[in-house]
Amino acid sequence: MLVVMHSHATAQQIDQVVDAIRRMKLTPHPLPGAMRTAIGITGNVGAVDSNTLEVLPGVMELIRVTKPYKLASREMHEADTYVKMPQTTIGPSTFTLIAGPCSVENEAMVERTAEFLMAHGVRLMRAGAFKPRSSPYSFQGMGGEGLDILARVRGRTGIGIVTELMDTENADAVEEVADVIQIGTRNMQNFSLLKRVALASKPVLLKRGLAATLEEWLMAAEYVMAGGNNNVVLCERGVRTFSDHSRNTLDLSVIPPAKHLSHLPILVDPSHGTGKRDYVPAMARASLAAGADGLLIEIHPDPDHALSDGAQSLTFAAFEDLLASLRRLAEPLGKVLN
Ligand code: PEP
Ligand code: MN
Repeated sequence: MLVVMHSHATAQQIDQVVDAIRRMKLTPHPLPGAMRTAIGITGNVGAVDSNTLEVLPGVMELIRVTKPYKLASREMHEADTYVKMPQTTIGPSTFTLIAGPCSVENEAMVERTAEFLMAHGVRLMRAGAFKPRSSPYSFQGMGGEGLDILARVRGRTGIGIVTELMDTENADAVEEVADVIQIGTRNMQNFSLLKRVALASKPVLLKRGLAATLEEWLMAAEYVMAGGNNNVVLCERGVRTFSDHSRNTLDLSVIPPAKHLSHLPILVDPSHGTGKRDYVPAMARASLAAGADGLLIEIHPDPDHALSDGAQSLTFAAFEDLLASLRRLAEPLGKVLN
């Protein structure tokens, strides 16, 4: 349920509605807008008794939110969400690039990548210290030592850090270092993890599950928002289909419905989406054309010797070419690269 207040409603009238919602043992979410304030209501299992609220001074109308996700829905929050971090803002009108290696491998390669990115105006670097690998025998990431490397490189170069949190155990450590906490595809429905990042002071980049519907994905975002963290960025990274010509099937067709149903920004990861570096630039450009708000993309100073995902990582030279073509394409599409 959404309570829409009159444009002339006073702060006191808004407080009265908030108190009334609390008395009904429900959770109010005041949503100030340019013209008027609306108050979202969550926590109800059945329909909310609208009579109690309808009669309060300053209330214009009550709207039923039909989707199972509430805070993530456009029904409840019409305006696009912009997610801010110290280095940049992710949201419509810009196209944000987040690039970097799959894993933190050593300090020199992370620093080299950060310097390269900053020199090219890319202000967010991705790199995993904790890696979810299909095989227990594959490189599992540098763990805490990797986080220390990221913190030092952040300090020296000023680049923002996007890094994955795999379990609640390491939440404090990742939250401290990260500018954006990445929740990986395999953890999209790890509800304890979602509840933990809901309490975090940093934005959350929520990858789509390997076989998740849009509704399941938005329900995962709802977990984070219901717990108090509204700074959620969605990231499409490919889903499982019968196709075997690429690592996953990058579902760019999810972007228009995601934008229609939700106000959250959405990025695309064409690296995991294709699995092959030759296929990445075309899908990166297609993501821009399809209305995404940016990219999460794997690059490596020496991809052929990468400890993980080298086959899908771009060389620095290939990334420079991609950047140039994205800049050319962004202008006619009304986007600015950031
Ligand atoms: C990654 O970004 O390196 C990663 C492991 O991604 P995903 O969770 O999409 O597989
Ligand atoms: Mn990877």
